[in-house]
Amino acid sequence: MNLIIFGPPGAGKGTQALKISDKYGVVHISTGDILRSALKNGTELGLKAKEYMDKGELVPDDLVIGIIKDRIKEQDCRNGFLLDGFPRTLPQADALDSMLSAEGMEIASVVSVEVEDSEIVSRILKRQQEEGRSDDTEQVVQNRLQVYRNQTEPLRGYYEDKGKLSEVDGIGSVEEVFSRIVEAIG
Ligand code: AMP
Repeated sequence: MNLIIFGPPGAGKGTQALKISDKYGVVHISTGDILRSALKNGTELGLKAKEYMDKGELVPDDLVIGIIKDRIKEQDCRNGFLLDGFPRTLPQADALDSMLSAEGMEIASVVSVEVEDSEIVSRILKRQQEEGRSDDTEQVVQNRLQVYRNQTEPLRGYYEDKGKLSEVDGIGSVEEVFSRIVEAIG
């Protein structure tokens, strides 16, 4: 089963993604994690991505599409995968559809974790204190939210039209939100 977890930065996608991949036995693929690790290892991809990530901007579509194209062909994705942080733009969603149909695969379900802006900013600033992510400063957070609303949120309509979107309330304990997600995936 191939899944997408979708939602604003700080909605708790990463935490839920680990629990989902565990329960359903699917590989967790986070483009943010892949880019951060590329950055840490000083690869060309990391260097290219850094200037965008530091400002809370999206990395160009062709870079992330290339990452996902290579990743989903790997053996461990055969039993299914969970995409976290991808797609984030309509061109990315279109590219995903084409690459999946070329491989005879499809997305079973898209779970959208819903959280209000005011709650998000306080959650992310807390995460900054705990994890020290360099793109978690208030100004960058506000920019990431703006980018999310402008460029990523339209994807809800995209997947709704395909009958694949499930909206889940992201407020509550990790376990509460997780049980809503499990119900939504069915
Ligand atoms: P995340 O950990 O998913 O919040 O991603 C951290 C940062 O990585 C984002 O603010 C973007 O700069 C970049 N990034 C991650 N995934 C994507 C994507 N699908 N498209 C463009 N940029 C991305």
